[in-house]
Amino acid sequence: MYDYDLLVVGSANADLVIGVERRPAPGETVLGSDLVVHPGGKGANQAVAAGRLGARTALLARVGDDAHGRLLLDSQRAAGVDTAGVLVGGAPTGVALITVDPSGDNSIVVSPGANGRLTPEDVRSAGNLLAASRVVSAQLEIPLETVVEVVRNLAPGSRFVLNPSPPRALPAEVLAACDPLIVNEHEARVIVDTDLGDSPEDWASALLALGPRSVVITLGARGALVASADGAARVPSVKVETVDTTGAGDAFTAALAWRLGLDEPLAEAAAYAARVGAAAVTRAGAQESFPTAEEVASL
Ligand code: ATP
Repeated sequence: MYDYDLLVVGSANADLVIGVERRPAPGETVLGSDLVVHPGGKGANQAVAAGRLGARTALLARVGDDAHGRLLLDSQRAAGVDTAGVLVGGAPTGVALITVDPSGDNSIVVSPGANGRLTPEDVRSAGNLLAASRVVSAQLEIPLETVVEVVRNLAPGSRFVLNPSPPRALPAEVLAACDPLIVNEHEARVIVDTDLGDSPEDWASALLALGPRSVVITLGARGALVASADGAARVPSVKVETVDTTGAGDAFTAALAWRLGLDEPLAEAAAYAARVGAAAVTRAGAQESFPTAEEVASL
């Protein structure tokens, strides 16, 4: 009865990566490797991750009328994502300028570009897409007022999932809609904004007190924690050979949102998402590392 298992409302960026011997000091110029351009941005990543798993996925985002925008649209379509909701124009495509040194430390400058022009009006105009989606997910690389408008326009019966990255204080109206709020340790600390100590169970209680219906805390190689009024439970990680953790959080979030839409209980959906996150760390890159459902099954 829903056309889409998951609608992702979020950012799409071109990640422009240059390897350098050392990152430049202020005023300095250094020479680097050939430029590599990857499709990225949390919204685009999460949509590709869900699409690759076989979820019927749509993306509501904005890109520029430029080569980076076309790259992003192509990567969505290659993963089977419906791009009818991707708006084109109004500003250049969002870009992340990334320099990486041999130790893997990086410096990043982000130009939000078109992501900053995804407006509440755009959400209202996408009413059909929202009404056709079992689960709607968002992150915070688009304007907060746009996320607020998503919450206000959710169809009855659809479920809202928020990954508040980059983290900031959230209005009560948004928090109350989250089922779940999905955070890592850093995001949990910023959102709760008081000293949390070191127990993820305590962070989960503090987050639940802010109003979300459920909370999922991702803990990297230590797995995850799920919590709701029914209690809290640890979700173990899957032991894998770690190559590159980039995108693990996006893969986890997309998988969790999809499985919740299939009416799996939270702990079960999180266990599946942990397998997807683990698969993603066994390969380099973000979108390039996301597994198919067959790959997850054989993990
Ligand atoms: P990022 O911002 O780097 O994408 P994140 O901090 O949002 O990541 P993580 O907690 O690092 O998210 O990863 C999400 C999930 O992926 C974890 O909860 C875990 O289940 C799985 N995962 C991540 N790293 C590993 C690892 N090294 N081994 C096994 N599973 C992992």
